[in-house]
Amino acid sequence: MEPTKIRIAVQKSGRLSEESLKLFKECGIKFESGGSKLKTVSSNFPIEFLFLRDDDIPGYVEDGVADLGVIGENVLMEHKRQVDIVKELGFSKCRLSLAIPRNEVYTGLEYFQGKNIATSYPNLTNAFLDKQGIQVTTHEISGSVEIAPSIGLAEAICDIVSTGGTLLSNGLKEVATVFNSQAVLISNNTLDLAKQDILAKLLFRIDSVQRGQNAKYVVLNAHEDNLDKITALLPGMKSPSVMPLTEKGWYSLHSVISENDFWEIIESLRTAGAEGILVLPIEKMIL
Ligand code: ATP
Ligand code: ZN
Repeated sequence: MEPTKIRIAVQKSGRLSEESLKLFKECGIKFESGGSKLKTVSSNFPIEFLFLRDDDIPGYVEDGVADLGVIGENVLMEHKRQVDIVKELGFSKCRLSLAIPRNEVYTGLEYFQGKNIATSYPNLTNAFLDKQGIQVTTHEISGSVEIAPSIGLAEAICDIVSTGGTLLSNGLKEVATVFNSQAVLISNNTLDLAKQDILAKLLFRIDSVQRGQNAKYVVLNAHEDNLDKITALLPGMKSPSVMPLTEKGWYSLHSVISENDFWEIIESLRTAGAEGILVLPIEKMIL
């Protein structure tokens, strides 16, 4: 009998594909991608990739055609499929926002009362405004939403924004955020034990990659007089490694610090007398 494989659906080409494939490669999973391939099997991990349009991914995972999928939360929430979100992936971050013509005076969400809104996300748009007691008419269109106001199709739009550049160049301004989105790993909710086991292995690898991305490896020199002060600033995975240098009274310290408070710690280290500070990226961090 063939050993069990898990089947994962990823976007064929678009704003999720590159980062999705990069993540699995960083997890040490080898596979061929690109070209017109619709599916591919890894040579060193029990996983098969299906390359699909992103809109089809939640449905395929719900039906069990695929066991897992990588999808933007915005698409997932709009279609309300019965799948489990097993991991936030931290890439393809964007927001679903309401925007109006730039020369309009915005008076708060009441502005939208009774208005026509063009969007590819009618469910999320209606749910958000409905909660605020605002009734609108949504017009579902699948692309080029931002031109709707200028051609008279709608008075406002609700669309995906990352920098706001597209809105600006279409004479629109962003006035309210409906939903913050990122890519997520989803799973069918009835995976058998063998597949759950493969998923656990995959998640362990993703966690290690993500931890590495959120941390930096720091190497520095310190005089023994400053050692206590500096050690106190460096938590490390357990505690920092301290190694004597050939120059008497001097030590090399190695530690791991989090990306979040990186600059604050570096400044405190310098004040505490740290010298020759080196900062290195971490590829993976296994706990
Ligand atoms: P498909 O051909 O697969 O249907 P699409 O055109 O619907 O693709 P893309 O534009 O590739 O979709 O976007 C896929 C997802 O990437 C979006 O649903 C959203 O989660 C995210 N995304 C969209 N725009 C941006 C952006 N500017 N920056 C980052 N992420 C984005
Ligand atoms: Zn799509």
